[in-house]
Amino acid sequence: MSGILVLAEHKNGELIGLSTEILGAARRLADQLGEKVVALSLGSGAGEAARKAITYGADSALTVENPALDEYSGDAWVAALLAAHKEVEPSIVLMGQTMVGRDLAPRYAVRAGTGVAMDCIDLSIEGGKLVMTRPVFGGNAHASYTSKTSPAVATVRAKSQEPLEPDPSRSGEVKAISVDVSSRSKVVGREEVKAEGIRLEDAKVVVSGGRGLGGPEGFEQLHQLAEVLGGAVGASRAVVDLGWVPVSLQVGLTGKVVTPDLYIAVGISGASQHVAGITGVKNVVAINKDKDADIFKISRYGAVVDWKPFMAAFLEECKRLKA
Ligand SMILES: Cc1cc2nc3c(=O)[nH]c(=O)nc-3n(C[C@H](O)[C@H](O)[C@H](O)COP(=O)(O)OP(=O)(O)OC[C@H]3O[C@@H](n4cnc5c(N)ncnc54)[C@H](O)[C@@H]3O)c2cc1C
Repeated sequence: MSGILVLAEHKNGELIGLSTEILGAARRLADQLGEKVVALSLGSGAGEAARKAITYGADSALTVENPALDEYSGDAWVAALLAAHKEVEPSIVLMGQTMVGRDLAPRYAVRAGTGVAMDCIDLSIEGGKLVMTRPVFGGNAHASYTSKTSPAVATVRAKSQEPLEPDPSRSGEVKAISVDVSSRSKVVGREEVKAEGIRLEDAKVVVSGGRGLGGPEGFEQLHQLAEVLGGAVGASRAVVDLGWVPVSLQVGLTGKVVTPDLYIAVGISGASQHVAGITGVKNVVAINKDKDADIFKISRYGAVVDWKPFMAAFLEECKRLKA
């Protein structure tokens, strides 16, 4: 058997959004190649996740429904993936650029004797081969790769692929496989970070602040505007490094990739490493007192002003319009 093997990550049987996007991409690639899509789901709820993966485009699914796999463990998960590899003998293996995918893809690739392209934003077929495109040089350029070895392994960036509309009438075989899930490491504790409001990655509007705000108190106004617009607050790395806001707000190459419809960049210069996190944004609006700031090069609208009086007036107007 040959096919496209997709790691279908889930929480208690509910597929994560990125897995539905990858299944959509896998379906399109498989149709071009005349191959099958096989989903793999692990841990408690894997059966449920597998059935959902079929509605999102997989032809069949493999599961290891063992609670020992509920927490990610490199040893145990790679063993499960290698067992699935043996079943499928895939030509392509896809997983998300998630905490799991970042760790698992290289581990798996080395054991399968192949390479891996991380953080891909585009997947296509040329001459029967998978072409994997990813940002390089801090997002300033894109590079495309094919794999000389099989399978071609890629991790895929969130929001870079479109999911299919789930079709509950689709059916396919769900097969449980057995794996030795013993691991040399174990999780000794887990601390949940309480997040308030809309997740930055899911927000339709992001109001982001940089060093130009002059201090952490500037973020208060950004939070107010985000609330009025039903969005979330983001930040540049400079202000995270200064300790003004937590790292969970950082947008960019080493932060989060966001894809809102509207991204308001306040006092952000537009360094390439920041821009790497907003390349998929539809409308960037920049507020910066330097007319030559790089952020204006990627902005649809811009205001060359001191952010403080501008933001106060803008916030009032937004509140008035909403009332
Ligand atoms: C390996 C690596 C990875 C990195 N990853 C990231 C990343 O993920 N995300 C990220 O953001 N950065 C990242 N950086 C850092 C990046 O290079 C920049 O240093 C950072 O983005 C700059 O943040 P900033 O725009 O807030 O600050 P600055 O560059 O200091 O810019 C501040 C801006 O505010 C404007 N300003 C000042 N006062 C006002 C005012 N009163 N009103 C309006 N505008 C004003 C200025 O004109 C200026 O354009 C990374 C760097 C490296 C080397």
